[in-house]
Formats: sequence, C-alpha cells, structure tokens
Amino acid sequence: MIYLDYQATTPLAPEAREAMLRWLDGPDGTGFGNPHSAHRLGRRAEAAVELARDQVAALFPPGGRVIFTGTATEAINLALRGSEPARAGKPLAIGAIEHSAVLDTALDLPGETTLLPVDREALLDPQVPLPEGVGLVSVMQVNNEVGTVQPIAELYARAKAAGALFVCDAVQAAGKMPLAEADMIAVSAHKFHGPKGIGALWIRDGIALHPLITGGGQEQGLRSGTLSPALCAGMGAAAQLALARMEQDAAHVALLWDRALELFSGWRLNGSADRRYKGNLNIRREGLDVGRLMSDAREVMFSAGSACASESGKPSRILSAIGLTQAEARGSIRLGFGRYTTLSELEQAADMIKDAAAQQE
Ligand code: PLP
Repeated sequence: MIYLDYQATTPLAPEAREAMLRWLDGPDGTGFGNPHSAHRLGRRAEAAVELARDQVAALFPPGGRVIFTGTATEAINLALRGSEPARAGKPLAIGAIEHSAVLDTALDLPGETTLLPVDREALLDPQVPLPEGVGLVSVMQVNNEVGTVQPIAELYARAKAAGALFVCDAVQAAGKMPLAEADMIAVSAHKFHGPKGIGALWIRDGIALHPLITGGGQEQGLRSGTLSPALCAGMGAAAQLALARMEQDAAHVALLWDRALELFSGWRLNGSADRRYKGNLNIRREGLDVGRLMSDAREVMFSAGSACASESGKPSRILSAIGLTQAEARGSIRLGFGRYTTLSELEQAADMIKDAAAQQE
C-alpha cells in the first residue's frame, strides 16, 4: 500500500506518538490527570498542556493566543460564529474555493455572504473588491484540493482597510510554511503529523469572541470541556518538529514534485504551477473514469477531488469554480505526498496509476 493522500490526513510522527504516550498512561501510571484539577496530578497534566500550547503558538505570528479545539472545523466555527461582526449580522466575504467548514458556516450566519472569485489558476485577485460594509473576510492560505497559495498578506491589509476582521483557514499550510498575518487562524494537528481529534484557533490579542461551547469555562472561557493532555502533547510535538524541519521537509517535497511532474508529463495540472504548495499534485486526463482508476490502482491511496467531496459522487465544487468542465473535473485526481513519502513509493504509485489509466484507452 502506498499512501498519497496527505491533504486528507498525514501519518502520525513517531515523535508526536512518543509525546502522547506519557499522557495516556505513562511509565509510572500518572499520566491520566485532569489538567483542570488543582492537585499535583492535575498540575502536571496542565503543565503538559501549557508546554504544548507554547509549541503550537510558535507556528503563528507573535501577538496572539492559542485556543485548543477538537478540530479545525470547530476552530473555524468559533472564529466565524463567535465573532462580533458575524453575530451582528454584518456582511461576510469568503474565497470561492474555501473548505466547506468555512463556506457552510458562513452561509449559516445571518449576514449576506459574498464569494470572492478565483481565476483559472485557482488564485484570488489581491485587489478583489470587498462588499460594502463587510464585517468579516475569510480566505484560506493553501487550498486543500489544488494546493494554491492565496495572497493572504494583501487580502489581510484590504480587510483591515475596510474595517473587517480577517480569518485564515491555514489547515493545509500549518507546519509547511510560515503562516501569514490574520486576526484569527485555524489549524488541525493531523494535517502536520499530529493526532486526529485536536485543532487550534489562534486569536490576535484584543479580538473578542463569543464561545460556542459553554460550561466549565476552560480555554479562557472560549471552549469549555476537559482537554486531552495526550492530544495537546501530540499536537505540540508535531508543531515543534514541523517548525524544526520546515526547510528540510519543503526541499523533500520539492524533489518529489519535480519527479511527479516528469512521471505524469502527459497529464494537465489543475491550479497554478508556481503559486502553490508542492505536496499537492492535482492533475487530469481527458476521458478518465476516476472511479474505475481508483479501483484498478487500489494499492495506491489517493483521492478524486477532495476527500470530503469524493464520497458525494458530485464533481468538485472547487474544480468547477476554476472553470473546469464537468468532464475535466471528473477526470481529475489528487496525489498528496510529504515528509514520509519516498521517491521510490512515488515512482511505483505513478506506474500503477498510469498502467490503470492506459487500460482505459
Ligand atoms: N480546512 C481545510 C482547508 C481542510 O483541508 C480541512 C480538512 O480537510 C479542514 C478545514 C477541516 O479540518 P478538520 O478535519 O480538522 O476539521
């Protein structure tokens, strides 16, 4: 089996696993404490959570705080639903190719939502006009389906000039590249070799939010509920490792990307060739039956469109937004690779995929 679906999730780093084990049980059996208890066992667990918070905070720009959540979806919901402009029913503007965590949340809010268009390269225009009276703008740093990197610095400046809050879904960027400035940034541990079941929202100092989950008042009153020290420790270790290895990982991914372009030279690339994260290769071939391809090349774990959309059987909303025809979108596959993918795995997978595609000719 060869795993090429790094946008859906990434393998747990051994270092993150090691950090977690201590807080699941621990050699002396004292790792199970509630981090919100006042006694020694609790304080130890709390120290682990706070260490992890500092490690995760290092991913973000200075001048903010980290709130742990269950997922990035929850972090995005907290940022959007909990924000003052959204609660006041002010207009929202979001990128046209946002993840459904942003799109469906924005559409569920009382203010009108404008979709900021992307071009055929899957890029937003940094000069895109924002709607009159906009209260909140949300744009992702790296797209999950096609890997394009949006001009976040310019969009953030425009949102500020319009008096709006700016939220960035950095799920696919975190741990892979420096995160751009924003007012709030959402990330998910399992996309950078941490565990599933934990995400975080970074909130710039001075920004007030209303909680979605009320109760014991944990996470500075913004997200009640007992934290899992093991998940926090795993996320913290994964963040620390990703920061330490950022250049090394990027160089490895670039090497894989160059080889992947050679291996799939007859295929067309979806999304910008240069303004992108190179661990995401979204390509298409005319007339390809991707369902059949996935079944014939079943030893390769890859995706048709995004992992979220592929179960619905509908052509990807993102590929349609960048102007692909339904047939082009249906003939597209996404290969995601990263830190633990070897060149030989990539080559073997490409052989299997290309052989399966050739059987369709
Ligand atoms: N945003 C983007 C860009 C994603 O790729 C994903 C997951 O695929 C999410 C948000 C949601 O993340 P989570 O599954 O942690 O809620």
